[in-house]
Amino acid sequence: MPEIKKLSPRLANQIAAGEVVERPASVIKELVENSVDAGAKQLDVEIENGGVKLMRVRDNGCGIGKNDLPLALSRHATSKIYHLDDLEAVGTLGFRGEALASISSVARLKLTSNDGQQDTAWCAQAEGRDMEAELSPAAHPQGTTVEVRDLFFNTPARRKFLRTEKTEYSRIEDILKRIALSRFELGFSLKNNGKVVHNWRPANSLAEQERRVAQICGPAFMENAVHVDINRTGLRLWGWVALPTFSRSQADLQHFYVNGRAIKDRLVAHAVKQAYQDVLYHGRHPAYVLYLELDPANVDVNVHPTKHEVRFRDGRLVHDFLFSSLHKALADVRPSAEQPVTY
Ligand code: ADP
Ligand code: MG
Repeated sequence: MPEIKKLSPRLANQIAAGEVVERPASVIKELVENSVDAGAKQLDVEIENGGVKLMRVRDNGCGIGKNDLPLALSRHATSKIYHLDDLEAVGTLGFRGEALASISSVARLKLTSNDGQQDTAWCAQAEGRDMEAELSPAAHPQGTTVEVRDLFFNTPARRKFLRTEKTEYSRIEDILKRIALSRFELGFSLKNNGKVVHNWRPANSLAEQERRVAQICGPAFMENAVHVDINRTGLRLWGWVALPTFSRSQADLQHFYVNGRAIKDRLVAHAVKQAYQDVLYHGRHPAYVLYLELDPANVDVNVHPTKHEVRFRDGRLVHDFLFSSLHKALADVRPSAEQPVTY
């Protein structure tokens, strides 16, 4: 029997990185979510070579003080929850305190931040090899910039799984679109290989929100979508559902958010599908951008490290609410309840 040894912190982080850092887009997701949690109003993302060479996320959020910088990079360190009770009603996208530690164990990470309380900004660098961050003074307005270079430089096995630059870039774009749809009040920009590809300004009115949805999901979606906003028994469902005539051959235009977090959930997918059942041809998929809001205590987001799945306290109530709200919204726009819609 070989002897039992404790994993080194670096190896422990690299193993954890396997769960959250699958590809460049997963890094972008974690960094952008951190900026959202920091209360940023503007997020600027820069990508080079599909993210493998460089990913940079800059925000104007609360920033991190000098003393907290090394902590931000260490595993199981977070400012978002302090007690088990806090986990019962998480209001932030992050809470596991693992992302920066994981990313810095498989890439060269530079964290520059200014919390607006100090004379200068500070920069911490962690380069996979050792987990000790080096601090140096830097210039940065209030907010944070995280730069991630050479993803998987020390984990060749992972690097082999990366697809072409184009594919990795388009996954990054998808992630950013998904998050931009969840935070209309924030501005986002995306630069790829030196060229600005997207610049979504803060959208506050319904008209501005619809403009962003059209920019992200295509004008045809918006032209064929109905706006819904239904409130019942502590649940609110709002957003846009496409008419059955705008169905898709693939389930590729389906955005669902629970309390501002993008999720993929079987119960939700089932409820939506059922609502469309008698108006969609077999094999066609509905298109929607929907937001469900409920008391955070009634939904558990701590199901999976990537937090794509959730567990509702009362799944049946949520299912029925989604189904009946959407069924009615679709029935209201059907030319005749008796006649199937023709294409
Ligand atoms: P988590 O988001 O789960 O707390 P992370 O590893 O992603 O874990 O981040 C660790 C901590 O670093 C956060 O709790 C937060 O305090 C700080 N942090 C990370 N990114 C930012 C940012 N962009 N602005 C302000 N603070 C940040
Ligand atoms: Mg985080």
